[in-house]
Formats: sequence, C-alpha cells, structure tokens
Amino acid sequence: MKLKNGAEYIDSLRDIKPVIYYKGEKINDVTRHPATAPHVRAAAMTYALASDKEYRDLAVATSHLTGRTISRFTHVHQNIEDLIKKVKLLRVLGQKTGTCFQRCVGLDGINAVYSVAYEIDRKKGTDYFDRFKDWLTYIQDKNLMVVGAMTDPKGDRSKSPADQPDPDQYVHVTERRDDGIIIRGAKLHMTGGVNSHEILIMPTVAMEEPSRDYAVVCSVPVDAPGVTMIFGRQASDDRRDKRERIDSGKPAFGAVGGEAVIAFEDVFVPQDRIFMNGEAEFTGSLVYRFAAHHRANYGACKTGLMDVLIGAVSYLTLIQGTAKASHVRDKVTEMIHLCETLYSSSIACSAEGWATVSGAYMVDTMLANVCKQNVTRFHFEVARLAVDLAGGFLATLPSQYDLESEDVGHLVKKYFSGVEGVPTEHRMKISRLIEAMTGGTALVESMHGAGSPQAQRIMILREGELDKKIKLAKALLGIPVKKK
Ligand code: SF4
Ligand code: FE
Repeated sequence: MKLKNGAEYIDSLRDIKPVIYYKGEKINDVTRHPATAPHVRAAAMTYALASDKEYRDLAVATSHLTGRTISRFTHVHQNIEDLIKKVKLLRVLGQKTGTCFQRCVGLDGINAVYSVAYEIDRKKGTDYFDRFKDWLTYIQDKNLMVVGAMTDPKGDRSKSPADQPDPDQYVHVTERRDDGIIIRGAKLHMTGGVNSHEILIMPTVAMEEPSRDYAVVCSVPVDAPGVTMIFGRQASDDRRDKRERIDSGKPAFGAVGGEAVIAFEDVFVPQDRIFMNGEAEFTGSLVYRFAAHHRANYGACKTGLMDVLIGAVSYLTLIQGTAKASHVRDKVTEMIHLCETLYSSSIACSAEGWATVSGAYMVDTMLANVCKQNVTRFHFEVARLAVDLAGGFLATLPSQYDLESEDVGHLVKKYFSGVEGVPTEHRMKISRLIEAMTGGTALVESMHGAGSPQAQRIMILREGELDKKIKLAKALLGIPVKKK
C-alpha cells in the first residue's frame, strides 16, 4: 500500500489541486481549511486503522487481483467473511470518529461496478471488466480514496434523463471520440468528494434505451480539467474555528460526512477509464447493487455513532447526578437495544450474502433495505432519548467565550456545574457533543443517505414475496391455491 497511514493520506491531498469552493471562495488546502479539515481527519482514520494492531485484521484484506495486502476500502468482497469484517470495521470507525468517515461510498461503487462490468462483457463482448480491474489495481496499490458519485440533480423528477428540458440534470456523454468520451452534468451530496483522489461516476437510476447517453460509468481524478466542487454548508460550521474547541462539539471530526456538489463541465474521460458506455439495460442492477451495499453499511457506521452518543449521555447523567433514576436506566437500555438491533440487521444481510457471477459477493438485498429503513427510525429515536436525558440546557447553554470570560466566567462555572469535583467544562463539552450528534444536519444523512426511506420501502414490498405469503395463509386454512 503506497499510502500507509493517516499522515501520508493527508500529505497526498496537498499534492493534488482540485477546484473547490465554499461560501463563495476557493479552498486551496482542504487539509487545513476549518470547514474541510475535520472531514479529512475522519477519512484519515480509515488509513490509520490499517497500522493499528488491534484492528489491522479488519482494516486490510488480500487483493484477489494481485495477492497484495490492500485497504479493505479498496477490496472486492470475496466471501461472507469479507462482508462481515467490513461491517465490524465500519462500526469501529464510527466509534472512533463519531461521524461519517466517507470512504465506504467508493468501496460500494467499486463492488457494484466490478460485478456489473463483468456481466456487461459477458452479454455484449465489451472489455469493461479488464479495464476496471486495471484501474482497481492502481487504486489498491496506491491506496487511494474514491468518491462514489451516484446522485444526479434529477431536475423534473417526473421525467426520465433523456426527457429533461435541461439535459445536464443527469451526467451524460456529450461526445464519443476514438480516444474517449466527454461528459457533462453534476453529482450532488458527494460524501468525501473534496478529500478523495478519484471520482467513480455511476448512473443514479435504472434507465432505458432512449437514455443511453446517460448510462455511463467512468472514473476521473478529482483535479481533472472541468471538474468543480462546491462544499456544502452544515449547521454550526462557523463554530469550527480553532478557538471553538468546546462549542464545535466534535472539534477533531466533522458533524456529518462533508458533502459537495461535483460539476462536470465537458470533462474528458480516456477509454481505459470507461466502464459502461450506453448499456442502459445494466443501469438497474448497478444502482441496486450499489444501494444495497450502502444500505447494509448504515447499520454499522451509525451504530458506531450511537455507541458514542449513548456513552456521552450516560456520562452526562453521571455528572448531573441522574444516572441511577430508573427511568434514566430504562431509556439508556432502550437506546442500547435499538443500536444493537440495527447492528444485527447489518450483520444479518452480510451473513446471507451471495456470490455474483463475477465472484464478488453481494449482501442480501431485502435485509439490507430493512437495515437502512430501520436507521431512518432508530437513529432518530436514539437521538430523541439522548435529548430527553440530557435536558433543556442543550439548547440554552452559554458559549465557550462566556465560560472563559473574566467578567462572567465564574457565573457560568457556578451555575452549570453538576456533581462535585467535575469541572463545568466537562459538562459543557459533553453537552456540545450531544448537541452536534443530535441536531442541525447530523441526522439528515441517516434519513436520506443511501437512499430516502421510500426507496427502501419500494424494494421491501417488491422483494416481500406477497404471493408466497398469501399461499401460506391459504394453505393453513385449506383454501385452494391456484397452481401456476
Ligand atoms: Fe460510510 Fe456511513 Fe459515511 Fe456512508 S454514512 S460513507 S456508510 S460512514
Ligand atoms: Fe452516507
């Protein structure tokens, strides 16, 4: 692995020059800018764990392409054990960062494209699979971070990509040349975009033949000519100034993933980086495989976050003197129960994994959808209980500036103290952490990341085999079951 640890990863970002804007101004160094640096540090943890003895077995894998040791974030799952190790790795990373560490999107893109490129070649006689393996070997050997770029702006949602009044609402091929293609459009909500090395572009919906110019899978470096990123605004992001080490809640790592718009304004993609080019009938399986992998992940990374939140609230109740109250213990029990229920579904969809014809392993898609659907509820319920237990001062707490003020600092210390012997600063810090993990934009990702709840419900009903269930009921009652 070329990039061996977090420091090398951070250094590598200083060597590339993507075009990034934030609040109307250019960011020249994402590793030092206060808006992006916390996200860089969270992603760096995915590199750091590879050299941590305790977690190395989870964080690295053996490449089936080269036999070399690689980061699990660049690995094509070869069996159920790989799927389960990934789940365990994501939970640990959630615990260590308390936020989104971003690198799973590229991993899921790699796994989805790998199996689908293989299937396109088998049916169409193309050579996407070999190209993809070459590109992936490069990613694995250099240990690069890949942003999986799927979500298009979509314009008028009632119209297909080809029917949009503005053709750029979905990324599409504007020109096919002997040496490659030109693409145009944008991807939104790109987690980890500003601190990745490569962009893996994939279609966002299942398409039909008239939209074939939109059926494109390819990769470009983040600093390819014509690529522009706009980093998103997050709640309380102005609190990331160095002085705000208490008020920012999570000074080391960001509140959520760190998302960006990535615009492609006539970007050239050479032939060897094109992995689908017009094969619209394969877009459905690509989107679905990507989504299933990502939905499975949410029961892992988010449980890591919930572990931190449950720990924070439990500590707060200790230093406020409420920990022994029976209703507090019951609410903490419920938080743990919800957290472990989520984790169970992430493990379950991995344990029920299956091999695609390429040999890459997929999660069980029904259970992965159930997993993500539960995230859209349980994470919110855990957050609700956390706010309930923390108390109203989460919303009324004075700032760090007041705590440190010569004039009023003594008042803040006195009136926001808890049990004797614990500094008020600890209570303020832990409260700000809870605020950061339950408020603002913190939970939006749990609702909409990896697909909004309705996307999972559609798949749950589709895969729910209602016919079979009706037959079961009829058979028990002796009602005749028509044989097909
Ligand atoms: Fe990974 Fe979770 Fe972030 Fe998605 S939301 S990129 S699964 S940490
Ligand atoms: Fe996400």
